[in-house]
Amino acid sequence: MNEKGRIHSLESFGTVDGPGIRFVVFMQGCPLRCRFCHNPDTWDVNKGKEYTPEQLMEEIKRYKSFMDYSGGGVTFTGGEPLLQAAFVAVICKMCREQGISVAIDTSGFIWNEHVARALEYTDLVLLDIKNYDPNVYRMITGGALSPTLKLLDYLREKDIKTWIRYVLVPGLTDNTDSIRQLAGFLFNYPNVEKVELLPFHKMGEYKWKELDLDYKLYDTPEPDTALLEEVKKILEESGKEVSLNI
Ligand code: SF4
Repeated sequence: MNEKGRIHSLESFGTVDGPGIRFVVFMQGCPLRCRFCHNPDTWDVNKGKEYTPEQLMEEIKRYKSFMDYSGGGVTFTGGEPLLQAAFVAVICKMCREQGISVAIDTSGFIWNEHVARALEYTDLVLLDIKNYDPNVYRMITGGALSPTLKLLDYLREKDIKTWIRYVLVPGLTDNTDSIRQLAGFLFNYPNVEKVELLPFHKMGEYKWKELDLDYKLYDTPEPDTALLEEVKKILEESGKEVSLNI
């Protein structure tokens, strides 16, 4: 129980990362470098504040009544929460023991025994598929797509409820042929309950500036309604509910 975690920040009343009112834990560290990342300040796993599991649970428990009342729970996001999977697994287990529902928002890039253990106590996975074309995926993120798809197979095998998240960036992830292939692919995953379409926004841009990072999307606009509607329709070919999270 002495595993510590490095946390970027905590949000007590989140409403966009899973059902109901969420206690959102932004974990520090990420192995990917997505061009459209809204939280580059979470990339470095050595930054943030260190918590013991007990300290974090104390914070979480303060909001339990709100979570119970709203059908919410705790969401781990980041950064990539499974980079610190050993710590996350401990908290997930503690939450299960307290009757608190847990969601993990992940790119699916990391796999190890701690990830498997965390998933044992996870009620919902928000799986970010940055692109379904492996070449575009690598260009956008700097990493490979295949670990994400392998994780999705594992989630199906274990029947873990999953929401797919897709960030729509004009000129980058609006390759509709690949989106159509993704929709067809998801048709085969009964554990996938819905798909969330997230429009790219410019709100994280200032962080890239502050961190003096090479941001390539200054000239990229947010997607317009016509493009969002077109992509939503294509994703609906998966047979899943598709929500537009603006
Ligand atoms: S996986 Fe998430 S946190 Fe990591 S770089 Fe991509 S968008 Fe940012």
